Amino acid sequence: MPDALLGLELVDIQNRIGSVLPGYRASQLYTAIYKQRLRSVDEISTLQRNVRAELASQFEVGWPELQQRFDSTDGTRRYLLRLSDGKTVEAVFMPDGARNTICVSTQVGCPVDCKFCLTALMGLERNLTAGEVIGQILYVLEDNDLTGGVQRVNIVFMGMGEPLLNLPNVLKATRILADPNGVGLSPRRITLSTSGIIPRIAELGEARVRPKLAISLNASSDAARRELMPITRKYSLAELLGACRRYPLRPWEKLTFEYVLLRGVNDTDLDARRVVRLLANLNCIVNLIALNPGPGIPFETPDPARVSSFQSIIQKSMPCFVRKPRGRDVYAACGQLKRVSQKEIEQFPILAEP
Ligand code: SAH
Ligand code: SF4
Repeated sequence: MPDALLGLELVDIQNRIGSVLPGYRASQLYTAIYKQRLRSVDEISTLQRNVRAELASQFEVGWPELQQRFDSTDGTRRYLLRLSDGKTVEAVFMPDGARNTICVSTQVGCPVDCKFCLTALMGLERNLTAGEVIGQILYVLEDNDLTGGVQRVNIVFMGMGEPLLNLPNVLKATRILADPNGVGLSPRRITLSTSGIIPRIAELGEARVRPKLAISLNASSDAARRELMPITRKYSLAELLGACRRYPLRPWEKLTFEYVLLRGVNDTDLDARRVVRLLANLNCIVNLIALNPGPGIPFETPDPARVSSFQSIIQKSMPCFVRKPRGRDVYAACGQLKRVSQKEIEQFPILAEP
């Protein structure tokens, strides 16, 4: 199988193609795959024909192929994309006026066993390469004609997988995405969400180019968090919040805490007051997510009034937003990514929010 060019940084290209191309061609190739976003070596017309042929014998660009696209009534699109080894992952496009968001996967499946998340039911198949992370984004940009003005696009590593368990590849993808000579996205509009892998939070903070950090809190006590997110048995809330306090925020940055609201489980006013106490003195915002349901998920979505009450308590102390569910009807919303087929959608239909 030819190697993929996507995922190579300029220095990697210089090192790898020395035998095929003179060094000064490396930046032309880098521009062709990330800025011009050409899908095949044949299209790289800045390179001579014989050079292209030589290159093509060893490399492919490495875009994923579309297996299926699921279009929600709210405009959200879920992409099931096939990788070079035949495995499939999902990416989601969420248009919102002039602000478009692309949510991408960092692993095939997820090894973290959160009880409210459909992806958890897949287990982990493998990590994605940096090129496979970037490939999802290029595919969605192209499919939605977002080739100009990419600076306004938000990227969230919130699809399948735990990004901090694939940190080197996630950081490499981020460097290429945020490089003005590469994909050219704004580094301030790239966000990673983690279930809270504490040692990796410190490591993320040391990276020169890194996404913004969002942390899935999801409970207001250790006991509840351990039930809902068994991985947190290793990591107490005190340790998690300690890591957050030590995290080197950039001057323009705040931490984001996500909190999935599960009816009757973690959605009381008492929980909200405990969240306020836990997050006191942190430079942060809170995003509430009312549960997106799915078959096999043993929880229910709280009523909007409960969500509002929870929000109003937190809002008194720090900014708190309710994340609008997007694409629930096609299983594209948070926690719903499990490669659900059209047939399964029809067997377990969920209405999109109006
Ligand atoms: N694995 C990472 C990122 C992907 S999940 C993480 O867990 O942070 C993105 C967000 O969706 C997380 O905050 C997660 O807690 C939330 N989530 C998971 N399942 C959900 C569900 N069924 N409904 C609503 N949010 C969910
Ligand atoms: Fe994995 Fe995140 Fe789902 Fe937990 S919520 S199982 S960490 S994808």
